[in-house]
Amino acid sequence: MSAYEHEVKALLSEAGVPVPRGVVVRDLDFSRAEELAEPLVLKAFGPGLVHKSDVGAVALGLSRDELEAAAAGMRARLQVAGFLVEEQADAGVELIVGLVRDPGFGPVLLAGLGGVWTEALRDTALRLCPISEEDARRMLASLRGSSVLYGHRGGPPVDVDAVVKLLMTVGGPGGLWERLELGEFELNPVIASPSRVIAVDARYLPSSGPVSGVPGAEADFLPLFEPRAVAVVGASTTRPNFGNMFLAFYQAAGVPLVAVHPSATEVAGVRAVPSLAEADVDYALVAVPAERCAEVVRQAYGVPFVQVMSGGFGEAGRPELEEELVEAARAAGTRLLGPNCMGVYCPRGRQTFVGGGVGPAGSVALISQSGGLAGEVIKVGERRGLAFSRVATVGNSADVTPAELLRWLARDPETRAVGLYLEDPRDGRELYEALRSTEVPAVLLVGGRSGQGQEAAASHTGGMVSDRRVWEAVAEQAGVVLVSSQDDLIGVLAYFQAHGSRAAGSDGVLVVGPSGGASVLAADAFDLAGVRLDPLPGDALDALRGLGVAATGNPLEVPVGPLGRTALVPDVIAALLRHRAYRDVVLHVNVQAFFTYGDTAEPLYAYARAVAGAQDALPGTRITLVTRNGECAPAGVEDEVRRIAAAAGIPVYRSMEAAAVAVAAGGRYEVA
Ligand code: ADP
Ligand code: MG
Repeated sequence: MSAYEHEVKALLSEAGVPVPRGVVVRDLDFSRAEELAEPLVLKAFGPGLVHKSDVGAVALGLSRDELEAAAAGMRARLQVAGFLVEEQADAGVELIVGLVRDPGFGPVLLAGLGGVWTEALRDTALRLCPISEEDARRMLASLRGSSVLYGHRGGPPVDVDAVVKLLMTVGGPGGLWERLELGEFELNPVIASPSRVIAVDARYLPSSGPVSGVPGAEADFLPLFEPRAVAVVGASTTRPNFGNMFLAFYQAAGVPLVAVHPSATEVAGVRAVPSLAEADVDYALVAVPAERCAEVVRQAYGVPFVQVMSGGFGEAGRPELEEELVEAARAAGTRLLGPNCMGVYCPRGRQTFVGGGVGPAGSVALISQSGGLAGEVIKVGERRGLAFSRVATVGNSADVTPAELLRWLARDPETRAVGLYLEDPRDGRELYEALRSTEVPAVLLVGGRSGQGQEAAASHTGGMVSDRRVWEAVAEQAGVVLVSSQDDLIGVLAYFQAHGSRAAGSDGVLVVGPSGGASVLAADAFDLAGVRLDPLPGDALDALRGLGVAATGNPLEVPVGPLGRTALVPDVIAALLRHRAYRDVVLHVNVQAFFTYGDTAEPLYAYARAVAGAQDALPGTRITLVTRNGECAPAGVEDEVRRIAAAAGIPVYRSMEAAAVAVAAGGRYEVA
């Protein structure tokens, strides 16, 4: 398809997008413009004419008589193949509507405030195609300048329904995004007025982006996480290397183990066989130089999963080595994890890639494109009370992808929440679909989001589609939680681990803690996380007064400290919950205050026990504890508070900000 404006407009018109009436004139005979109503617009087209206004290829407000002279003027200056003469639409709000192809996620719809200010305003919203009507409305409502659509300064609103219809025609089910093959296009401006919308400019950019693949057959990943036996290829009898390190990890974990070594019958105390073909295992870890990996993988007949730890493939500019590896895996009938990854961690299956033995088995899963980061999340997370069901690092994802793992984990009876750390999923579209259909809570941390998106050569739209914004659209549309730090990834997973099976019967968040600036800052932290703290129910105030609490609002200020009444906070919660239910109750305490007059931790423990008792009594409410200034407590005290809380299924955070992010995430998975 060629890219001239009138041809794109013909296609748009056929699809049901209103465009101005117009005629194409290739000679200088403008008599055919007779049928058009003045005022008229003259636009020159030709192979080099892209941004027409910039080069003087658009003339507005013309009468029929002025067309010929204006056209002659353009021909004198520009390489012109012909002219489009069209009716001039009445002024209105100028919008931009564009369609781009994200290299990972495929077709993305962009809508925003357009016209000449598009780039200056950068006020746009993104959604992956296909969009729903609700997506279209939310896109428009999310614009900073949306008030110009809904009636600004006494002006009439534009025909928002017509804008929504246009967005659906472009990006909805069966929309233009499906018909334009690999191209990108942009309508700028679309003029919206109280009575209609009309696309007065249209630009099409053929492109050759990647086409996302069709999901392959579903693998059963159980043997990956819980192998009957494991083989390690690459450990040395003379110079300890990564292979030897893994042998040691596996020995500590206690999984049945065999080494693969060309000559030795034993490596570091582990029985060895000369080839993978002779190892009767469910999982083989390969740690030999990149050039030799394919050869090893070719021997993996009957081994359902092979993990290639070695780097030096696609990530190092050697895609051919990676392709060879994938072909070797296909030929052997095995599934490949990696290359360039750390492998799998699953306490239940005695699978590990971290030293120091495996932690407790639990319900939190993690998929990570970085092995190092996964190791940190495991170690730090376990320190903070997380217990993992399965962790898979996928490295370059040459074969097994995050999407495929996510689909399996979402159905895994042991897994109740999934965290994902991703940098560049090869299967963005598939991942998006998997995230959409996943019912277990999913938390996404994405690295490299600040990098700019594709270069915008001829399109305004492309320049406004950064990776960060696409990921935000993915999270929003898939209904998953997007966090921006490792700390929040762990914090949100801890919230789901603690509260995941606790059905919250209602909405609303109540914050209770000592008075002063901390309560004010708590309100700000929740506001920043997008959580509204509703005022207290008016009819509860008497009951609170009866408890000696002069209620000020939400956050509710009550004395909490070494001299405070231990049972006061639970009594206050109980009194309030008789008047209205809350999804979440967040309790905060200043740990430092407990150690000002003495160094006994007993009052703090007593408070923690009282809070635990309150949670036990309230199965329909999720209690979260914030221990501010925990570093002021003697060593071990925070751990003990955490232990008391964890026993009652209460997550503990050291900052209000971290708690707010977790509680906001909890609101995304409203269980009724
Ligand atoms: P460019 O290639 O510079 O984007 P456009 O076709 O968008 O050229 O025209 C430039 C501007 O002229 C538009 O942003 C719009 O404000 C105005 N314009 C163009 N065509 C029409 C039309 N048919 N009716 C009303 N305004 C128009
Ligand atoms: Mg334009």
